[in-house]
Amino acid sequence: MAKLTHRPALLERLPARVVRLLREIGRLGDERGCRVYVVGGVVRDLLLGHATLDLDLSVEGDGIAFARAVADRYRTGLAVFERFATARLVFPDGLKMDIATTRRESYAQPALLPTVESASIEEDLYRRDFTINALAMQLNPGQFGRLLDVYGGRRDLRARTIRVLHAGSFQDDPTRIFRAIRFEQRFGFRLERETLRLLAQAAATNLIQQLSGPRLQNEILLLFAEQDPVRAIARLAQLNLFRFLHRRLSYPTSVRRVVTAVPRAFAWWARRFPDAVIDRPIVYVMALSSESSPAVIAAIIKRLACSREQATKMSAGGKQVDRILKRLTDRGALRPSQVYRLLADLPDEALVLLLAKQVSRQQGTRLNLLRRYLVAYMTNRTIKTSLMGRDLQAMGLKPGPQYKTILGKLLDARIDGVVTSEAEERAFVQKRLGVLGDC
Ligand code: ATP
Repeated sequence: MAKLTHRPALLERLPARVVRLLREIGRLGDERGCRVYVVGGVVRDLLLGHATLDLDLSVEGDGIAFARAVADRYRTGLAVFERFATARLVFPDGLKMDIATTRRESYAQPALLPTVESASIEEDLYRRDFTINALAMQLNPGQFGRLLDVYGGRRDLRARTIRVLHAGSFQDDPTRIFRAIRFEQRFGFRLERETLRLLAQAAATNLIQQLSGPRLQNEILLLFAEQDPVRAIARLAQLNLFRFLHRRLSYPTSVRRVVTAVPRAFAWWARRFPDAVIDRPIVYVMALSSESSPAVIAAIIKRLACSREQATKMSAGGKQVDRILKRLTDRGALRPSQVYRLLADLPDEALVLLLAKQVSRQQGTRLNLLRRYLVAYMTNRTIKTSLMGRDLQAMGLKPGPQYKTILGKLLDARIDGVVTSEAEERAFVQKRLGVLGDC
């Protein structure tokens, strides 16, 4: 039997403009003769006292028609996903809202997307992943803020517990394995005993293998985008889940140290280079695969159906990072141009990984040296030569491969401060032309 509690005050914790909007949407629900609810993470976060941004609404009735009515009234952007009976609205101020028809889902085959049929709000809540996410609050006038807690979501929030709604939950949708770990780590909750048993049981099968690349990638990257993914990664290792990225991917102490050092590397990087935006989740994937061979990394890229950009970053993260790190820190001082040449082909994510690797080695002096190199490199990489190919031509040099060599040497000289003006660049080139003889 549904537990109903009237808690309008809880919704009032949302920003005033959002509360006004939700009240208006509730009135629209009455006008159109349907019950409207906010559901899922919004309600959970309100009960936890956390700020929440995304709004998920469920409508007992035609959710898409309702979404169109809201979109018309507020002149929002609208994207409709007929197959899932959902629509996404983006309000002129940037607020995002998903509106769905309340429905039941049936899984013809484990791990594939379900078939959807409209149903009551109670059934809609039953199809959800965990009790803490199976909560709703009604928006219609007179019922505004009424909390619908059919499956003990509030009890589990108080007990700080993640619990599935039924025994087949992980089999129906193995992405819930990753979602469980995500919420467990984010909120510092525990997996309820039976839920942990079911999760471990599902994780021990090959169900996750049946997830498509984009769905697996989405879950992994969402997990690694959390505030502190290091414990989540340890949990994945404990449950032997890396094998779904690659059967040879494991979590030895050396890799664990690098992963654990990533947050410190991020913190230093963000302080020093606040404008150089890093794809943080990808850095964790790179750290995890930092001792893997290029073939294993290529297979992970394929399994996760990575974009070309993600693939380029991840491919730069293997053992070559160790080779570059060795050359940077094992010899005496390098010239700025030598540092530039070593780092110029690496994406910024690989630079952060380089730093994390050095942090994990706990060698203070070398870490300071590497930091100095990185600071110098980030400045030096914006340096350009004044002269270009056409200037070389005007100086009498025939176009050909030597242009690249000369301009490269010229850039090095600029970076090292050997030449500092266009006039000095010209003199530098003249001198080399003399050395090269008649080209
Ligand atoms: P977050 O705070 O990370 O956005 P959320 O709970 O809002 O968490 P969403 O992924 O936005 O999560 O999903 C919204 C709601 O949809 C969830 O609260 C949950 O009720 C339901 N949901 C999402 N994914 C699943 C799933 N794989 N299986 C069952 N229910 C799900």
